[in-house]
Amino acid sequence: MTAKQLVPGVYAISLGFVNTFVIDAGELTLIDTGLAGSASRILAALRQLGRQPADLQHIILTHCHADHTGSLRKLQQESGAIIFMHPVDAALVGEGQASRPVRPAPGLMNAVVFQLMMMRQSSVATVEPVTVDHEVQDGEELPIAGGLQVIATPGHTVGHISLLLPQHGGVLFVGDAAGNMFGLSYSPIYEDLDAGQHSLGQLATLEFDVACFGHGRAIIGGAAAQFRQKWGRIAPPITRR
Ligand SMILES: [Zn+2]
Ligand SMILES: [Zn+2]
Repeated sequence: MTAKQLVPGVYAISLGFVNTFVIDAGELTLIDTGLAGSASRILAALRQLGRQPADLQHIILTHCHADHTGSLRKLQQESGAIIFMHPVDAALVGEGQASRPVRPAPGLMNAVVFQLMMMRQSSVATVEPVTVDHEVQDGEELPIAGGLQVIATPGHTVGHISLLLPQHGGVLFVGDAAGNMFGLSYSPIYEDLDAGQHSLGQLATLEFDVACFGHGRAIIGGAAAQFRQKWGRIAPPITRR
């Protein structure tokens, strides 16, 4: 089984170094789509859940990077899903672009990861262009799974969003606002590190038991406390946009 249940109705589909997530509320919602070439694995995981591509009614992208948007076009074609994304990053996806310039987060490990990513960036700088159907805004409650909250978390990219499902004590889909590859940490790269720190301070004020990351293992139970321990002292910005 490639789809792993995290809490009832929420599944992680690991594609190696990047994760996508499925919310099953009758109709299915996919959060992120992996690199190009991942569609067949994602659809196979849905079939293992006893579902068909047409059951996939919504696809939400946390941000524009190719490891999250790479298989969007293919999955859209296979499923006919409605696509949700923040307008700032949706503009890039509409042009088939995968990134704007980024800088490493502080620390030697991040510098190393940054160099590795720069070396292979040319291979993932573009994606198949897709027009986003629904441009989401900070604070918006999407009519998905009884109400899925959009939290703008700029930093890693300017149009990055996280998503909060209130059920099960709160399930936060972090995207790449933070990672959990080697413990809970900053993402290795940022378009705007200051904004990214403010966004993490913002996430640390929320209530959630479970945190799901683009990269690394999900935290099941007590997730918000870990965020508060790490980023609770970073004052949230006065305005979040
Ligand atoms: Zn990213
Ligand atoms: Zn990523």
